[in-house]
Amino acid sequence: MEQVVIAGAGPVGLWLAAELRLYGVEVTVLESRAEPDPHSRALTLHPRTLELLACRGVAEPFLAEGLPIPSGHFAALSSRLDFSGLDTPFPFTLALPQARTEELLAEHALAAGVRLLRGHRVTGLTQDGDAVTVDVETPHGTHQLRTAYLVGCDGTRSRVRTAAGIEFPGTDATVWAWMADVVLDEPPHQRSVSNEHGAVMVFPLPGGVHRVVGNDAVSVRHRPDVPDFEELRARVRRVAGTDFGMHDPTWISVFGNATRQAARYREGRVLLAGDAAHMHFPSGGPVSTSGSRTPPTSAGSWSRRWPEPLPPHCSTATTPNATRSAPNCCAAPARRPD
Ligand SMILES: Cc1cc2nc3c(=O)[nH]c(=O)nc-3n(C[C@H](O)[C@H](O)[C@H](O)COP(=O)(O)OP(=O)(O)OC[C@H]3O[C@@H](n4cnc5c(N)ncnc54)[C@H](O)[C@@H]3O)c2cc1C
Repeated sequence: MEQVVIAGAGPVGLWLAAELRLYGVEVTVLESRAEPDPHSRALTLHPRTLELLACRGVAEPFLAEGLPIPSGHFAALSSRLDFSGLDTPFPFTLALPQARTEELLAEHALAAGVRLLRGHRVTGLTQDGDAVTVDVETPHGTHQLRTAYLVGCDGTRSRVRTAAGIEFPGTDATVWAWMADVVLDEPPHQRSVSNEHGAVMVFPLPGGVHRVVGNDAVSVRHRPDVPDFEELRARVRRVAGTDFGMHDPTWISVFGNATRQAARYREGRVLLAGDAAHMHFPSGGPVSTSGSRTPPTSAGSWSRRWPEPLPPHCSTATTPNATRSAPNCCAAPARRPD
């Protein structure tokens, strides 16, 4: 029987797996994708996340590749938040695409002895007093795994959460934004433009690519279909007066401010972490603020008891980090063009 199975090799699943291994627990991670996701939702690591990476001695490659940004925006306001006053060795946010963050975390987890099985999708589960039986779909057929604990780190649409019968209450999206990874011939000096037509922000990425994120008065209140490239350029021009000479898009997407938190983070031997446990508007570095903090704390207290089972009250409560993040993330898109 497995000791811990984690569904999902996103940043939270990989970090939790590595943390548990450091405490001697055997961990298998099941990831539905056959290959890592080439697209990056997150671009930013916050100081506390960097401190946690440094605690494990693995911050160096992140710092070597990422771009330190000493100030940030809130709600696309033109006045910047200055991070230099923070009491931390890392008084900046670090721009690093999520795909690269995940590669580095996967290396860390594999070096710690985690078994990572890609192309393995969790489709269901049943549990009794002793173990969880996990249904797994692979390219070679379906099979079942028995494990002492299963952790759902399988994102906002978590199969583990629904199969465990954990509710995900909250509010649907009322505000929508769009984003594109493009090449800019004329990148702006000013990172953000905000006016009565909407807001546009531009972030440099490695490899000469820029991320352009924005909303506009036309699309902000209605879930837009993913705009095609010409429509996206028109939206950027409407707000910024220029499209910055954009071309060669590699990814265009939309996202909203749906805000939900799992009613509890544990049902018997099944636990939730990361986006499976909480979702909100991706402003303020959700991985940094809540996802990455849960694993070290819970992995430590959990594995100190190992192989004793977790006491029933442990990890059923929702965490204060996620609860505190939600209003902050709701506030960011509240300022919107009408
Ligand atoms: C546009 C946008 C920008 C963002 N920017 C930032 C940012 O700058 N900074 C930041 O910190 N956060 C940011 N976020 C949020 C961040 O991307 C998420 O919080 C983060 O990815 C959550 O990590 P996770 O590991 O919990 O889940 P995910 O990253 O969603 O990973 C879940 C994994 O589980 C796998 N999976 C799903 N179902 C199954 C299954 N049934 N069986 C097995 N595997 C499964 C998926 O393939 C995936 O690999 C942003 C989000 C968006 C949408």
